[in-house]
Formats: sequence, structure tokens, C-alpha cells
Amino acid sequence: MLAAAALRGRAPQRAPQGEPAAETGGSSEAAIMVAVRVRPFSSKELSMLPAEPGSQFGPTARNFMNYNEAADERPQSKATIRKVVHTIDDHVLVFDPPDENDGDRRAPVAASNKRHKDIRFVFDRVYGHEASQRDVYEGTTRGLLDAVMTGYNATVFAYGATGCGKTYTISGCPADPGVIFLTMQELFERVAAAQDEKTIEVALSYLEVYNETIRDLLVEDGAGAGAAGLALREDAKQGVTVAGLSEHVPSSVERVMELMVRGNSNRTMSPTEANAVSSRSHAVMQVHVRQKARAGGLQTDVTTATLSIIDLAGSERATVTKNNGARMREGANINRSLLALANCINALCDQKTKRHIPYRDSKLTRLLKFSLGGNCRTVMITCVSPASTYYEETHNTLKYANRAKNIRTTVAKNTKSTQVHLAQYQSKIREQSDEIKRLQQEVAALKSRPAATAAAAAAAGSRNSAQAVQAMAELRKQTQAVQVVQDLRNKMATAYAPIREAKWEHASALMVGGWYDHHLDALKGWREQFETAFQEQQHLFSGSGAMDIDDGADDGSSAIARRSLVFRQQVDELLRDLTRERKTIGRHAEHSTQLIERNSYMAERAAQVPPSVQLTAEQRYHVDQEYRVLDLSAERGGL
Ligand code: ADP
Ligand code: MG
Repeated sequence: MLAAAALRGRAPQRAPQGEPAAETGGSSEAAIMVAVRVRPFSSKELSMLPAEPGSQFGPTARNFMNYNEAADERPQSKATIRKVVHTIDDHVLVFDPPDENDGDRRAPVAASNKRHKDIRFVFDRVYGHEASQRDVYEGTTRGLLDAVMTGYNATVFAYGATGCGKTYTISGCPADPGVIFLTMQELFERVAAAQDEKTIEVALSYLEVYNETIRDLLVEDGAGAGAAGLALREDAKQGVTVAGLSEHVPSSVERVMELMVRGNSNRTMSPTEANAVSSRSHAVMQVHVRQKARAGGLQTDVTTATLSIIDLAGSERATVTKNNGARMREGANINRSLLALANCINALCDQKTKRHIPYRDSKLTRLLKFSLGGNCRTVMITCVSPASTYYEETHNTLKYANRAKNIRTTVAKNTKSTQVHLAQYQSKIREQSDEIKRLQQEVAALKSRPAATAAAAAAAGSRNSAQAVQAMAELRKQTQAVQVVQDLRNKMATAYAPIREAKWEHASALMVGGWYDHHLDALKGWREQFETAFQEQQHLFSGSGAMDIDDGADDGSSAIARRSLVFRQQVDELLRDLTRERKTIGRHAEHSTQLIERNSYMAERAAQVPPSVQLTAEQRYHVDQEYRVLDLSAERGGL
């Protein structure tokens, strides 16, 4: 029945997602994961549902357990609400499908919907009333722990109207704890498991944003900083931080539970008609995980990551809760924060035009800046009620959540920028050593081309490669390279670019010059021979007395002599031209030599570490190695 309803429903706007994040270098793009959790009916709601004995939507033992605050008396007389959210499977739900029996028998609903909306939504995960806290945790937040442990920031937030299960999902109750507890439990397990290799510090803070004011939930007198609340700071290095917020280092998950309960009791509660214990504030728990490898004697990276677990205030409009006066203002402020959140989400979804993201419009969005479009993996757990009482709210919430699926966040690891990851660094060294070996072989082969020194070169090569192997062993011990190394490398590469060209020019000038020399020599030799032969011939003619080329005598021998003279003149001209050109080539070679010298000097300068920077021996070696790679490849260019 439900499947049929789903088929009648509108086509999903997007296929269930599960596509891997597109990795781009060190950072990657990831969509926000959007999950929807439909809570069970409360006992009050159950009493208002049309009687449906044995219905699959009926109450379960667990539902009753959570709703035993109200008496379970179900007046069979009149049904005033109906179920409007039907979960189909792990990914699909239908909002307001037509009644299976007949539209006419539909129970009256508060909203003025004339027709069934019958909208099919597809989400990354859909949880029905039967889903346990652990199911929700495992399908949503657990994945974030992996990210946090590897140095990515992560955020999970619960969104939805008041009374739809946000606090239940995030905090839960002692008997059935929620995301915070389950996350911390696993985090502590992981910390214990990694104890031998790493030192891991876990610190947490808990704050609320209420009426655009930030309050510390873990200090007595909540506000901590008076009525103005705590201030938000934003800087390039640390992102967004809250000035003066207390940080706690819990020793166990039980301690976390205590902190959470304490914090929740400090939350600003105001009774509204929507939910007797509804919280009108946004509660943000931040768990900072700082890791350092333990391996003895080695320098290691420090990886930090923050997991933010956020219980947003109700998303309903102020009117829904029939508030007035102070409550109205509260409502307006909450709407301001959530409106700003919606605006940010809209802007972030609009990927084609690089729109301005209005993070600054509210405290909440400023705080969540790096949880939405920033450096973060994000999960949104959307909480909805299945009851028609929340018809408009649920419709809006689902539309909003559907839109949020399009947000893409850029995630990058929080390893200190001056530090490169060990594995990355080692593979770079390996690459370089291979490159050096390869270049050495190539250069040796090129050098040995004319002379028969192949054996010597090979011997030198193997000696060098033995050295390289030894150097490799040394280098393997290293664990870090500083940014300086990268900068130096870039500077050296820039300095080397003209060298490579000049080397090539120099080499070709030498080659062409050699070719000229060879032919000039040949021509000069020929010219000398010609001169000797010419003189001899003249002598011969003058000896016979018949030869006087200038007397205009028109005999054969004087004609030959004249032609020979013209010939000699032409050859002399050619010789002069060639000699001139040869000189130009020589100047080219000289010029490129100077270029090489000058740029080599500059490259050498570039390779020099600024006095303000202290490089370790290994890092120094790393720079030298880069230098050698560049030098060898320039030399190869000239060969
Ligand atoms: P919100 O924080 O969104 O205002 P709550 O988390 O306070 O809503 O939930 C309202 C009521 O519904 C609470 O009594 C809570 O225990 C109950 N509830 C919410 N979600 C569930 C659930 N998945 N299972 C059982 N009870 C739930
Ligand atoms: Mg709540």
C-alpha cells in the first residue's frame, strides 16, 4: 500500500546519495549528509488518531515507555489527527499521501490544505519511529568520528520544529542516551585503543545561543559574561572561537554525561504551547580532539579536529506557538538565526553563482560558518513528527532539509600548515631519490657518449646509488618538512627555469660553433691550396712571357686567371661572413654562460635558508636534495 503511495508520489529530485566525495588534492568536496528522523506518536497523539487496531503505525512498547507521562486513554469516539509522514525505506518518505481508503474519510487537519500534497522525498537516510538511538547514531554521527580522528572538523545538527525530537536525538534521556553520549562513548573507546601510538586529548565545551546571546552552559550563572554574553572571535588560524568559553577535559563518558546533564539544566527553558519543556535556544557542544603520535624520538604532527553537536531551537514560526510579548521577541530572534541559517543554506546551494554567504547575519550562522560551507563534514538530522498537528511545520522542515542536500562543503585536514603528513613526506622523498638516481644515470650515459668512459660512469653511478640508498635510510627517519622547504623549492625551481634554457642555448651554440669551426678550417685549407696553385700558375704564365692579365689580351689563359681571381674574392668574402657569424655564435655561448652563472648564483641564493628559520638536518638535506634534482635536470638539458 505504502509502496503504491510512493509511486504515485512525485519523483525524487535526487537519487539517494552515497557517491564518494570528490577528492581534490588535500581537500575534498562533500555534500552535507541529510537524515530525517520521524519520531513516534506521543501517547496524546495516539489518543487522537483514528482507531486502527493492530495497525502497523500503532504504538510500540518503546513509544509508550517514552510517553508514559500522559495517560493512555484513547477515546475511540473521534479522530482529530492523522499520520502525514510515511517512511517507505531507508531513503524515502512520503509526506501527506492520499488516504488509502478514501479522501472523504480523512480526519480534519488544522492546516488549510485542500488536496493531499503527496510529496515523495529522498534523503541520505530516513529513520522511522522504530529506529533506536543507536541506529540513528550509527547511520549519521559515527561516520563523523572517523573524520574527526583523522583530523577533519565535523558537525552534526538536529533541525526541526519544537517537540519533534531534536533534544531527544542529541541528548536523549539517561535510560536511552542520544548522539552526544554514544559519540563520546565511542570516542573514549578509540582513544583507549590508540593509547600506545598516540596521545589524544579530548576537551569539550557547551554553549547556547539564546536571543542572539552566547552563554556558557557549563559555568554557574550561565551567562559568565553578563547580559551581553560571550563574544565570537574569528581569525584565519583558528576559525570561529568563543572568547572566555570554559573548556572541560572529561576523564570518562560518565563525566561527559554529567556535564551534558548539567549543561542541559542550564539551558534556557520556556514553556510554550508547542512543547512543555521546549528549549528556545540553540545548544552547541564542541568536542576538541588533539592528537600527537607517541613514537619515541620522532618529530610528529599535531592533528586537531572539532566535532560540534548542535541541538537547534525549534524551527516553527513564532505564530505557531501562540506567543506574545517577551516570547514573541524570543521567537523573532530564533527566527532571525534560523532565517539566517536558511539564507546561508540557500546561498550555499547556489553553486553556479558564487554568491555571498550571509554568515554574519546571526550569531548562529557565524558560529556555524565552518560547519556549513567551511572546512567541515556535516550531518543534519532533521526531526519531524508524524502527526498532522505539525502539518505545515513538517512540510516546511522537509522542504528545507531537501534543499540542504545540495550544500557542498570543502573539507581539509587540520594538520598544521607548516607540517606535511609523514606518509606524504616519505613518498615525496622516495620520489626524489628515484628521480636523482634516474637523472644520475641519464647524465652519466650522456657524458659517456663520446668517450669510452661508460664503465667508469657506471661505477660512479652505482657508488652514488649506494649513497642514495644510505641517504634514503637516513631520510626515512624523518617525519616532517616545514613550509620553508616548500618555499625554497619553489624559489629554486623559479631560479632554475632560465638556467635550463640557457644551458640548452649554450650547448647548441657550442655545437653550431663547432660545426662552423670545422667548415671554416676546411675552407681556409682549401683557400691556401688555391692560393698556392694560383701563384704557381701565374708564375708559369709569366715565365713564358705570355701572361699579363691586366693588358686586356684576349687569350684563354688570362681569362682563366681573371676568373680565378673573382673566385678567390668570392671565397674570401664567404670566409669573412662565416668568421663573423662564428663570432656571433661565440658571443651567444658566452652570453648563455653568463646567464647560467648568474642564475646558478641566484638558485644557490634561493636555496639558502633565511637566517630567521631553523631547519633540522633532515630538512636541510631535503632542500639539498631538491637542489640536486634541479641541477641534474638542468645539466641533462645541456647535454
Ligand atoms: P525538541 O527538542 O525537538 O523540541 P524533544 O526532543 O524534546 O523535541 O521531543 C519531544 C518529546 O518527544 C519528548 O518527550 C521526547 O522524549 C519525545 N521523543 C522525541 N523523539 C522521540 C523518539 N525518537 N522516541 C521516543 N520519544 C521521542
Ligand atoms: Mg529540544
